Amino acid sequence: GTDHRIARISSAIRVIPNFPKPGILFQDITTLLLDPKAFKDTIDLFVERYKDKEISVVAGIEARGFIFGPPIALAIGAKFVPMRKPKKLPGEVISEEYSLEYGTDKIEMHVGAVEPGERALIIDDLIATGGTLCAAIRLLERVGVKVVECACVIELPELEGRKRLGDKPLFVLVEAA
Ligand code: AMP
Repeated sequence: GTDHRIARISSAIRVIPNFPKPGILFQDITTLLLDPKAFKDTIDLFVERYKDKEISVVAGIEARGFIFGPPIALAIGAKFVPMRKPKKLPGEVISEEYSLEYGTDKIEMHVGAVEPGERALIIDDLIATGGTLCAAIRLLERVGVKVVECACVIELPELEGRKRLGDKPLFVLVEAA
């Protein structure tokens, strides 16, 4: 059942203390990718949830949203759109800024990748403060796309990123400390 699959996924994620900075508990999904059963279960759980929701676009956040997004997109018959760090995409872009602990960052998407009225799922590996997902929601909504839901493998609930998303639904497989 689902619980068995979630338990396997949870135990396949490695936690590395003090990376990339002292005090950060880094949730490392590369070990999940080394376990083909756990990786497949991860994709299957998302596909089961989204296959009948008329999603036309899976928007993946750089970099680890590029690992989970494409297999989900292929399985549900949606397009995949990369949401990238600044100055990576070669074509004309629209961008959205978001704040970090110190300073700001940006995500970018190609103009013309999506059309008004499309229905999107946004995917990333992890939600911490929710700033990245919020920027992705704003970017897609600016071009008239309906964001149906955000999905992550891991949530850090203590950072309350879910609150920052307001009434936008968030689906996660695993909660971490
Ligand atoms: P946030 O915008 O604060 O929700 O941060 C989410 C982004 O930062 C995601 O793209 C994550 O991959 C990355 N991230 C933040 N905190 C962690 C963590 N503890 N372990 C792994 N990745 C993290």
